[in-house]
Amino acid sequence: MAMNTQGRPTTPGASMLDGEVRTFTGNRGLDHEEPLIFERGSLEKTGVDLPEPKAVKPRLGGLERTGAIGLPGLTEPEAMRHYVRLSRKNYAIDSGLYPLGSCTMKHNPRLNEKMARVPGFGDVHPLQPQQTVQGAIALMQMLSGYLLELTGMKAVALSPKAGAHGELCGMIAIKAAHEAAGSKRSVVLVPESAHGTNPATAAFMGYGVRSIPAREDGTVAVEVVRAALGPDVAAIMLTNPNTCGLFEPEVVAIAKAVHEAGAYFYCDGANFNAIVGKVRPGDLGVDAMHINLHKTFSTPHGGGGPGSGPVVFSEALARFAPVPFGIRDGERFRLVEDIGEAERRGLKPFGRLTAFHGQMGMFVRALTYMLSHGADGMRQASEDAVLSANYVRAGLRDLFTQPFGDQPCMHEVLFDDRFLQDTGVTTLDFAKAMIDEGYHPMTVYFPLVVHGAMLIEPTESESKDSLDLFIATLRHLAEAARRGDVERFKQAPRLAPRRRLDETRAAREPKLRWQPDPARRQAAE
Ligand SMILES: *Cc1c(COP(=O)(O)O)cnc(C)c1O
Repeated sequence: MAMNTQGRPTTPGASMLDGEVRTFTGNRGLDHEEPLIFERGSLEKTGVDLPEPKAVKPRLGGLERTGAIGLPGLTEPEAMRHYVRLSRKNYAIDSGLYPLGSCTMKHNPRLNEKMARVPGFGDVHPLQPQQTVQGAIALMQMLSGYLLELTGMKAVALSPKAGAHGELCGMIAIKAAHEAAGSKRSVVLVPESAHGTNPATAAFMGYGVRSIPAREDGTVAVEVVRAALGPDVAAIMLTNPNTCGLFEPEVVAIAKAVHEAGAYFYCDGANFNAIVGKVRPGDLGVDAMHINLHKTFSTPHGGGGPGSGPVVFSEALARFAPVPFGIRDGERFRLVEDIGEAERRGLKPFGRLTAFHGQMGMFVRALTYMLSHGADGMRQASEDAVLSANYVRAGLRDLFTQPFGDQPCMHEVLFDDRFLQDTGVTTLDFAKAMIDEGYHPMTVYFPLVVHGAMLIEPTESESKDSLDLFIATLRHLAEAARRGDVERFKQAPRLAPRRRLDETRAAREPKLRWQPDPARRQAAE
């Protein structure tokens, strides 16, 4: 039996639940084992019949490949089954509750998918002449307008491809603004609870990172920010609501202090889902903020599709926003791609961030979500997201421990591991036991400021029945841990396709490329 270095099995089968079930095929009922495609397909075979190629005279001057290219040959059903089986191993928001905090795994309404496949949107090419894609550009303009309306900001860059990419876009604009003012600043303030992408973005830009500690209640105090500000500070990167699921109560005073020190306020807007239609970040003093369309506006996420992280800018930064941006030119819509043209319009774009204009499919989905919900519907989605998180909090607060006291949260609820103290069960064990119960675990060990953190975000789209079963399951597990049923946790997951993996070794010795095993290679040669 395969074991990891902690002596725990990595293949299913040996468990207290199903005993030593060993099947001839390695399959577990109708859950099939699936090897890598290179291990399944034979390099010598092919699943298609092609006529012998005509003798052609190569024009590559002797550089053409002569050896085998090593693609696995499979029949069409074999290839299809391979990918269908893999897709079934991928847990998704479409298969069950996905309570990852900080990630907003939101339902993607099928209507969005239908619209994104309308041929006029789905089949356009980024190099098409603009007069042939007027509708698509008009759609981008409309989406931009709504994003500005919802955030109370002045300009938007649609091109960033993800939240982290948006952070980079916002911070380049901030650097450009400082440079235009002749001000040399070298430090960015980042609260301790920030998502790792924030300090990474600041460091990538060449800034030093000054960490801001949170206070007892998990929020950032304006005095602490003020003490860290100085003529060397270029910006603060603050997440609001923050990664502890709390709205920063002093955010307006913080923005004021930051501006008085000549710095800019970058807001990590990944948690916008909690406040859409309730608060406009522009009114809080934010200068730049990314919006994760794949979190807040229901576009697919992770394995489900590309991200999209438009950035909105305040008056102070608007002119530094990158090209391209859309304009209405008489009867036509147009993307301004040329920096010279932008400068003639009095702007000062920092350049461009991507080859083209961004993720068109995500724009269609996000706009569909906005139009189908309406202003009242979007506000209600935020209210329901907050309600769902607090419903989970209320259902668990007597058994679980909250790091910052028993206070209401925004769209996600944070627990620590004090309730597991002396049980022998860790946050990781608890998360693995959830897999056996059919739940993707919540976000664990993040934010780093909380010991053994468990960050749960149910989103607005879960029904009350779904939340009730989730709460009952977590209560059942917490009680099992308290009763001393430790083995159940240490052995978990028992029912997943793979058992506990050696994550430390995987991180230290990553295998990034498939290598044929030597015996197989020899046989092939
Ligand atoms: C998701 C997230 C990001 C990064 O967004 P990506 O689209 O994954 O790059 C940044 N900050 C916070 C708080 C997030 O939750």
